[in-house]
Amino acid sequence: MQHIDEQYILDNFETALENGYIKAYYQPVIRTLTEKICSVEALARWQDPSTGLLSPYIFISVLEKNRLIHKLDLSILENICITYNEMRAKGLPLHPFSINLSRLDFNEVNMLDEISQIINKYNIPADAIHIEITESVMLDNTAYFRRIFDSFHDAGFAILMDDFGSGYSSLNVLKDYRFDVLKIDMRFLSDIGSRSKKILISVVNMAKAIGIHTLAEGVETQEQLNFLRGIGCEMLQGYYYARPMSSEDYIQYLSEGTMTIEPTQDNEYWDTIGQVNFLSPDPLSDVSFDDNDVSESTIVRESATPLALMEISPESAKLIYSNQAYLNELMKLGYTSTEHFQQSIDNMQPAYYSNMIEQVDAAIKTGELIKKDYFANDIYYTYCTKCIAKGRGSKAMLAVSMQTFEPTEEVNRSEAFEKYSRIIIDFYDHLSIISFEKNKILTRIYSKMAFCKDYLTMPLNEAVERFAENEVLESERFKDSFSKEYIDKHIAATGRIAFQKPFHIKGPTGEYILRDVRLFYILSNGDPLFVFAIEPMAHEADMIAKKMLKEHPELLL
Ligand code: C2E
Ligand code: MG
Ligand code: MG
Repeated sequence: MQHIDEQYILDNFETALENGYIKAYYQPVIRTLTEKICSVEALARWQDPSTGLLSPYIFISVLEKNRLIHKLDLSILENICITYNEMRAKGLPLHPFSINLSRLDFNEVNMLDEISQIINKYNIPADAIHIEITESVMLDNTAYFRRIFDSFHDAGFAILMDDFGSGYSSLNVLKDYRFDVLKIDMRFLSDIGSRSKKILISVVNMAKAIGIHTLAEGVETQEQLNFLRGIGCEMLQGYYYARPMSSEDYIQYLSEGTMTIEPTQDNEYWDTIGQVNFLSPDPLSDVSFDDNDVSESTIVRESATPLALMEISPESAKLIYSNQAYLNELMKLGYTSTEHFQQSIDNMQPAYYSNMIEQVDAAIKTGELIKKDYFANDIYYTYCTKCIAKGRGSKAMLAVSMQTFEPTEEVNRSEAFEKYSRIIIDFYDHLSIISFEKNKILTRIYSKMAFCKDYLTMPLNEAVERFAENEVLESERFKDSFSKEYIDKHIAATGRIAFQKPFHIKGPTGEYILRDVRLFYILSNGDPLFVFAIEPMAHEADMIAKKMLKEHPELLL
């Protein structure tokens, strides 16, 4: 630590400010999932002509003690405004800047007024400025500081809790105030042993449960980065990416394009994605978008559920994140790495995974958790998808989970039968069992269509009526064909207990698709039942049907 006389600081502070010896240095904050810059922290640096560089640790406490700190902090804000406008003038993409405030700032002046005046003078929006406050600021006088923070929030400033975990009462502070971001103290990272890892896991878990974004400071190594990425810490700051830089160096750094800036329009998209709790036992159901909706199920687990994030756009599907458990499942399907998996989806014809595309479309369209079974590489697996955010350019982020069922050496017949019958069922779009005797739908075995569940609880004749009206283009013909009277007549006339007719059925994305609808008779435990099946037409049949319909559209009515 430097030995600088307190008096020296007091004697020289004002001149240092006027002469520009005290300046803001900028250290970028990186979005973990994209490695793009999402904001920058301004840190005070005093480059003294006679003593050299002074650390903020030395002069800040002196300025605080002598009630001068607000002058420093407002001057740093003014520096930010100038840099912001330089970036704007150079046509560089813009991002928020954060400033550090001291508790004593609030004693001296009306900080909100002062800050607002400065940013108005430079024509800078409030959401471009984030306020960093350490927990010690809020130790006492809770009601007073809560009012102050609320007024900052109302004016559009985000508030970050700095150095979380360094003080005595972090948890109380968290309970009493509304923060947007938790900056986790770098001391947790300096020794990344198993205890500090567990603490970091719990902190990230807790922050997600209460809807606060997470940022780790002091990231210096690849190992720390990998760990933080794995547990879902949303943002990173530290020497690993960049040291604090002067305004000129920062602008130069941006112009060189070493790191790119996240477009402002994408901030909300990534913030929403950041709320997925990678550590939750049930990450797909456990996304809380609203701080009043706190999930009870977030507990720390050592081995997480397989979880990946896939970004879907009209042109591509990109694997953005996968945890180790998900990678293990991918390997069982024959992929050697996440890169291998990405390459194979980039190169494959969509027709080979049209089922998967249907699932993805349905997940995006409905926002529901969608589960489907598949079979690949001799492995039967369940794939779960849920859309967690939609972005610009029809982008959507899916949280994905996967569970494989490994084949055992000695598969007995019933297991094989069970397995393969499920795969055969996958051929159908929809299968349910109905009873005309009981006027009931007994069970929906399987469905790729997004039909509502209400049909299952109503009497069969009513369900047929409603289904025909809501889901079938040729509704009258459908109603006629699926009545008990018609079936009886059909069986009497043809001696057959099955029929198959084409209809246009509303698909999961809302448009009508031509399908074969089949009804066939089965006897189950002595009960006469029917299987109601919707199935894709064979290619040739589909071609012929479409050709005929073109010429005689009345045929289907
Ligand atoms: P802070 O706000 O927690 O800032 C982070 C500190 O960690 C900065 O030190 C930064 O240079 C340093 N740092 C960043 N990445 C790494 C890393 O990977 N490894 C290590 N070992 N350190 C890293 P700095 O700039 O010396 O600031 C120290 C503290 O002084 C700040 O802690 C903040 O509390 C205060 N401070 C700095 N500038 C201002 C200011 O303008 N106003 C006020 N009120 N306080 C300030
Ligand atoms: Mg800070
Ligand atoms: Mg800090």
